[in-house]
Amino acid sequence: MPEGDAVYRTAARLRGALDGRVLTRSDFRVPRHATADLSGRTVLENLSRGKHLLTRVEGGLTVHTHLRMDGSWRVLPAGRRTAPGDQVRLVLANEQWQAVGVRLGVVDLLKTADEHRVVGHLGPDLLGDDWDPAEAVRRLRETPERTIGEALLDQRNLAGIGTIYRAETLFLRGVWPWRKVGDIEDLDALVTLAQRLLAANRTHAATVTTGDRRPAGQTWVYGRAGRPCRRCGTRISRGEMGAQPQERLILWCGDCQPR
Ligand SMILES: [Zn+2]
Repeated sequence: MPEGDAVYRTAARLRGALDGRVLTRSDFRVPRHATADLSGRTVLENLSRGKHLLTRVEGGLTVHTHLRMDGSWRVLPAGRRTAPGDQVRLVLANEQWQAVGVRLGVVDLLKTADEHRVVGHLGPDLLGDDWDPAEAVRRLRETPERTIGEALLDQRNLAGIGTIYRAETLFLRGVWPWRKVGDIEDLDALVTLAQRLLAANRTHAATVTTGDRRPAGQTWVYGRAGRPCRRCGTRISRGEMGAQPQERLILWCGDCQPR
């Protein structure tokens, strides 16, 4: 599932292809907006808020998309055919480029003035210009009984973390994922580290938390179940956190992250 850094890069690609250019075609392949037509409007800007993407167009409209589990935006030269079998949900095209949204989890069109309805619930964006660690900590502390693992994935607390950054951040801080939020003293250091990890990866496609860019060396625990911990040699554990059907993967070292 794409995390905040991947969504940030997607917004940058959309910006390069669409911002400041007049749309010559739009194709919403979702029932709710099947008749919408944005052609003739200039795209003002593309931005990410946590894992949400906002494409603002002339006339006070915003296209809201979310990649969810396996969606993506591809940028192709105008006129190029998309691959057969692609589940295209939305196309935004100008004379030079077409942005093709494949398997998007959310495709919505709303007034720019109403954006708060889709992103207003989000906590501070780890990759936003307005990143505010103190506010993220304040929101986390509102549910002291919750496990830190679940709280970090709740985008209302802070926006942009998915299962990879959750696992890596908790490992690096030596925090057992099921520890209660209220039992963690230095939440500030935790959210600051998460922000640094995302920021370090926002310009390239690999998720590297170890400083080692080689494919086998990029993470401490994520993707390493059953393999020896890079610090202590203990086998990395793998489990699931959260109530069904929302449970999500967690990896940790039982020695480096004691109960
Ligand atoms: Zn370890």
